[in-house]
Amino acid sequence: MNILVTGGAGFIGSALVRHIINNTSDSVINVDKLTYAGNLESLKDIEHSERYSFECHDICNQEEMLRIFKTYQPDAVMHLAAESHVDRSITGPSDFIQTNIIGTYTLLEVTREYLSTLDEKQKQSFKFHHISTDEVYGDLPHPDELDEHLSAALPLFTEKTSYAPSSPYSASKASSDHLVRAWLRTYGIPVVVTNCSNNYGPYHFPEKLIPLVILNALEGKPLPVYGEGNQIRDWLYVEDHARALYEVVTKGQVGETYNIGGHNEKKNLEVVKSICEILDNLVPKEKKYSEQIIFVADRPGHDKRYAIDASKIYSDLGWKPAETFETGLRKTVEWYLDNQVWCQSVQNGSYQRERLGQIKGKI
Ligand code: NAD
Repeated sequence: MNILVTGGAGFIGSALVRHIINNTSDSVINVDKLTYAGNLESLKDIEHSERYSFECHDICNQEEMLRIFKTYQPDAVMHLAAESHVDRSITGPSDFIQTNIIGTYTLLEVTREYLSTLDEKQKQSFKFHHISTDEVYGDLPHPDELDEHLSAALPLFTEKTSYAPSSPYSASKASSDHLVRAWLRTYGIPVVVTNCSNNYGPYHFPEKLIPLVILNALEGKPLPVYGEGNQIRDWLYVEDHARALYEVVTKGQVGETYNIGGHNEKKNLEVVKSICEILDNLVPKEKKYSEQIIFVADRPGHDKRYAIDASKIYSDLGWKPAETFETGLRKTVEWYLDNQVWCQSVQNGSYQRERLGQIKGKI
């Protein structure tokens, strides 16, 4: 297959591109605008492959997108390009509306025009895979709020859970999911949607919890935990996500949604403490790394709990995560220890791990 990946220089996109080039005979056209979150250093291992091409463009540029589709004649689109950091969406939602909503709309319209040039057989095999997040579902009851009896049967997000996004980021992703499904129903664009839980792993931009904590810990800086650190996320190792995405684009049914998750529900504070323990073991120093933990004001509108029911992708496509949280987190910490040059180059002066997403004064 000839697969057009958008956002292939980002965290998950680069894991996906590396997975396709290293493990299949498919070709990839990576369309990425290279925002602060996009980095070609993350693709160094595969950039010389004859099956890899790069186009530096904004997905909102309809003319360029049409040219790219006509030039490369993709068999599938895997759409990951997005603004992805909730805290940044609180500080400035505009880019999120532009890329996540208008960008997705632009790609859908370009796909519609492109499909009209294909013969029936090519149309039948084409897929538009929209990569989304579990955050579109809002949040779930938290075990701390329920009595013991009820917390034994805590609900999970299924593919049928209603949308109730809380942040500008998740609302913009929810909007894009709606557009994608509407373009299937109205225009017959063959779409498939995946909603995944929190990813972690190598090449993660250091504004997100896990890489931020690893790097701050190593530099002796405070390890900021929002609120009391009780928020629960369901963590998935990024390479497991990349494998799942490839299974969906190759075997998933058009019109279906697949939730992807690792069944690794952890409180944020637990995650931070686990990183500290791994560092105590790998890079011991006089004091425990956990002594650097500080509690800071919570994120406005912070979702309490996310947890994915991934039984549909398990049973329908036979995908399962290979990493447990313990093995994946250790690999991640080791990767950051071994890749300080990448960490320096992606921060390049524009971002110094400062706190983002605080609102000054309530309305
Ligand atoms: P990321 O922020 O690391 O990467 C996004 C990439 O998109 C970057 O390379 C950036 O340069 C590119 N991009 C941004 N705006 C663009 C534009 N207008 N035109 C072209 N390229 C543009 O994001 P990520 O964490 O890799 O997430 C990828 C996708 O997966 C997103 O759609 C996100 O919503 C979704 N997702 C992420 C997670 C997670 O835990 N990170 C979980 C579930 C779903």
